[in-house]
Amino acid sequence: MTSARALRPVVDRMAALTGVLRARERAMCRGLTLLTYHRVLPDHFRRGSLFPSLVTPLSLFREEVKHLASACRVVPVGQGIAALAERGMHRPPLVGLTFDDGYADGFACAAPVLEEHGVRGTFFVTTGPVGTGAPLWFDAAASAWAGLDWRDVHAAVARCTNAAAVPAAASSSPAGGVGFLKTLTADQRRQLLAELGGAPERVSVPFDRAMTPREIADLARRGHEIGSHSVTHPLLPCATEAEVAEELSASRRHLAGWIGAPPEGFCYPNGDHDERIIAATRRAGYAYACTTLPGRNLASQDPFRLLRIDMNPRRVTRGDGFDRLAMRAEISLLHEALR
Ligand SMILES: [Zn+2]
Repeated sequence: MTSARALRPVVDRMAALTGVLRARERAMCRGLTLLTYHRVLPDHFRRGSLFPSLVTPLSLFREEVKHLASACRVVPVGQGIAALAERGMHRPPLVGLTFDDGYADGFACAAPVLEEHGVRGTFFVTTGPVGTGAPLWFDAAASAWAGLDWRDVHAAVARCTNAAAVPAAASSSPAGGVGFLKTLTADQRRQLLAELGGAPERVSVPFDRAMTPREIADLARRGHEIGSHSVTHPLLPCATEAEVAEELSASRRHLAGWIGAPPEGFCYPNGDHDERIIAATRRAGYAYACTTLPGRNLASQDPFRLLRIDMNPRRVTRGDGFDRLAMRAEISLLHEALR
């Protein structure tokens, strides 16, 4: 346990006793608080995940949604932005739950819990793998990367890219390897993964696949918001103008075909964006876009730079259990202020 994590319960308790936490919660009423989730999986599936910080165990998620539904007005992002335009205080505070990537567990695990509490979420779908039954490329790459011989990796990188060598960080872990792969073009990445014999065509673990078109349409019909997360989940600032336009417009077209109308929202893959990407997102017809930068969105926030709080399970638990005080501190940005 890090010292910061060890101290957190003390800090949270002090903030509750001194009224600091209540003041921060009142401040939430002036804006739209967006929370980022990736996977919500039955508890036993979390073990063995190569990206555990991205997995919220289902039992924890139930507790989080129960708290949010009782203390906040939980709305899809598009509705939250519309509500934010009516300036003033929003009581209870506006909160939106977002789910990145479009995994099948969004449909199977997260949505039913939201609906049990009468609330709806926003699901940002990477459209390329939808309906293929294949894993998202970074999951396939991470599991392949974990078992590779480094001499093979370096030789393959030299053949497929202009990089003289694999950066040290990429060699340290599957997550580092995926970070390196994200900096390549889609063609380079495909070629490299093919050379390394990495990407399986089918998944063996339930939910380690994208949602199907029917699941996406069903979520929309039930009142959830569907947004785009690109076609292939590239680092957009590294892509050419034509590639960026295609990622933005083709994913929008795919989703429109499945849900009957083009989506309003976009979520920058990895959160990576710059002025060029923001301009392209506007041109493609989106009304807003989410980043991974932390913070609360006030009425003055640029809708193409929406801030979100990453819901890492470690920050809202004590031991293995849900810590309501920590949850309150996390979504009111008390923890962020102390980082
Ligand atoms: Zn993503």
